[in-house]
Amino acid sequence: MNQEIKKMFCELLGRDHVLTDEPMKQHTTFKIGGPADYFLVPETGEEVGEIIKICRKTDTPYFILGNGSNLLVGDGGYRGAVIQVYRNMSAVTVEGTTITAQAGALLSAVAAAAKNASLTGFEFAGGIPGTVGGAAVMNAGAYGGEMKDVLVEVTVMDAEGKIFAISAEKLELGYRTSVIKKAGYIVLEAKIRLKEGDQEAIRERMKELTIQRTTKQPLEYPSAGSTFKRPEGYFAGKLVMDSGLRGYQVGGARISEKHCGFVINAGDATAKDVRTLMDNVRDIVYEKYGVTLEPEVKFLGEFD
Ligand SMILES: Cc1cc2nc3c(=O)[nH]c(=O)nc-3n(C[C@H](O)[C@H](O)[C@H](O)COP(=O)(O)OP(=O)(O)OC[C@H]3O[C@@H](n4cnc5c(N)ncnc54)[C@H](O)[C@@H]3O)c2cc1C
Repeated sequence: MNQEIKKMFCELLGRDHVLTDEPMKQHTTFKIGGPADYFLVPETGEEVGEIIKICRKTDTPYFILGNGSNLLVGDGGYRGAVIQVYRNMSAVTVEGTTITAQAGALLSAVAAAAKNASLTGFEFAGGIPGTVGGAAVMNAGAYGGEMKDVLVEVTVMDAEGKIFAISAEKLELGYRTSVIKKAGYIVLEAKIRLKEGDQEAIRERMKELTIQRTTKQPLEYPSAGSTFKRPEGYFAGKLVMDSGLRGYQVGGARISEKHCGFVINAGDATAKDVRTLMDNVRDIVYEKYGVTLEPEVKFLGEFD
């Protein structure tokens, strides 16, 4: 951490919005991760742009964080600036059948707004614990729906600080991927188009999906959701289970007994525990089935 750089961030955002040596375990659903040199909480796109200017001028790497629900941060933490786009940038407005949400809005908040306005099509996302920004990047999906089905347009900032809108067709939204990360864009806002529906039916569907999640997923433990991507023609959780790895544990990291697609933090897991477990699981599954499991969860920072 460099005092001069900290001072620049403080002058821009105010002291309350600049944390240093901030434990990332407090900002990830895995509850794992060492300290970030700088943890910044901007409130506007303009501030995000100014942060990036400082980062570029001072050669400071930066990372955009949403709710940290698809993220494993190394035990050594992150040498750079984590820019949090979350509650600080989370306005949601509804106009006709279009919802405009700032990137930091939680999907659950957007789903609630949709339900309140009797709009259908977003029920699938209500239980995904991410932000609109993280969901656009990942093309998050569940129960037969995905962001690709509902996104109309995303407003982004590029690495030069230029802000512009991109239509959803140009985002190359695929299975848990988009062009956003590759292009280095920061999502600031998204427009979502839904259909008029029956409020009671929407409420029922959301309730049904919540029950499915709570009965099938180990929500009582910290995790980052599905740890591996679904390999073509298979289910990652089933491959792991059929490999005899239900409950397999390395340190505090464990393959959930409830859902073998989830690695859970069963108590004081380190990032190293999770990485070692993931590597071992990948090798064992490959040996048994000749299928390579690829991580869905993103890695950030220093692991050794
Ligand atoms: C219990 C549980 C259940 C889950 N269920 C599902 C599910 O059903 N379906 C599913 O798809 N996922 C699921 N997930 C994973 C996760 O919630 C999603 O991937 C979600 O979209 C991640 O959003 P986030 O805001 O937490 O992103 P983060 O984890 O903070 O970040 C993920 C990636 O997106 C980038 N990013 C975040 N915000 C922005 C932004 N504004 N601009 C540019 N880049 C950004 C980050 O840099 C990072 O690369 C689940 C996770 C958990 C813990």
